[in-house]
This record gives sequence, C-alpha cells and structure tokens, in this order.
Amino acid sequence: MSLLLHACCGPCAMYPLELLTGQGKDLEIFWYNPNIHPEFEWNRRYENLQIAADHYKVSLIKGDDSCEEEYWLSKTYLEEFETRCDMCYDMRMDAIAKFASENGFDSFSTTLLVSPYQQHDKIANIAETKARKYNVDFEYIDFRPGFRHGQDLAREIGLYRQKFCGCIFSLEESKFRDKIYRSFEEG
Ligand code: SF4
Repeated sequence: MSLLLHACCGPCAMYPLELLTGQGKDLEIFWYNPNIHPEFEWNRRYENLQIAADHYKVSLIKGDDSCEEEYWLSKTYLEEFETRCDMCYDMRMDAIAKFASENGFDSFSTTLLVSPYQQHDKIANIAETKARKYNVDFEYIDFRPGFRHGQDLAREIGLYRQKFCGCIFSLEESKFRDKIYRSFEEG
C-alpha cells in the first residue's frame, strides 16, 4: 500500500517519517508548498526537507510549484474562499490528491496533521473532499502527539526550524519578524 506523504517542511516531517518508516510503510514524500514566501524561505524549507528525507532514506518528489508571493498578496482568492488559510489548504490538498491519483499511489496524507498550530479538522475535511474528487484514499493520521518529539528530532540533526507558518502575511504577523528578515539578509 503506497502512501504519498505531503510535507510542508523538514521539522514537521520528522515524527511522521519516524512513525511510518518504523511501521515499514511504503511511502514517498511530496513537496508542494507555493504558500511559502519569500523565495529564500521556500528554498530553505525545501532543502531542509531533503535532509529529513535523506535521514529516513525516503525519496522526495518535488511537485510542480514555486513561491507564489504575488498571488498571495493579490487576495483575489478571497472571491472564492473565506480566508487565505482555506485557500492554502485547499490548493495543497488538491495538488497532492491529484498527483497521488495520477501516479498510482493508493493513498495520501500530510504532515500538516502534526502541527497543533494548524486547523487540524479543516485540513482533514478538505483532504477527504479531494480524495473523493480524485478517487484516491486519504489516510487520516493524527500525528499531533508526536509534535514535540519531532521537533526534538529536528534539533538533533540540525534542521532549520522556522518561526512563521509560511506566507508573507504570517511572516509579518510573527513576533520574530525582524529576526526572520535579518536571517534573509545573512543568507
Ligand atoms: S498562515 Fe499558514 S496556512 Fe494560512 S495561508 Fe499562510 S501559510 Fe497558509
């Protein structure tokens, strides 16, 4: 039973990968996160996810995406979605379910389900809808009990651990905003 596991970053992938590889699960990781801005951050998170994937010897598939900061700033999506997060979850779950269906995976899931800071039930509901749309199974796993452990694992292997959710708005809202901008300048 092959599983396509969407991952938003290295640290959030650590516990799900430890759990699933420990169970002997047949899986691959899928990167599709156009919500991450700016491009420096998008690259940094992708590179750290690759380190996590290598650590667990799981292959990482790079989806057809890029940093789409201008789209987020346009807010045109608010004509269709109530909030930017609704749109953000919807577009990512849609891409994952579609890719899983078109490439022979039995099911898909996401590391977004590890974070106590995300809208867990909403993500699961959207994923279920996309599973029906593309005729592929959504494997719901509540990874949240392993969130802290996963962060510890990330620290142990030296992964970069971000201090904002991903989009430019969450960066501006972060209490670490100035420190984050400095990190972009320092490269
Ligand atoms: S806050 Fe997070 S979930 Fe919401 S739109 Fe920004 S990146 Fe997406």
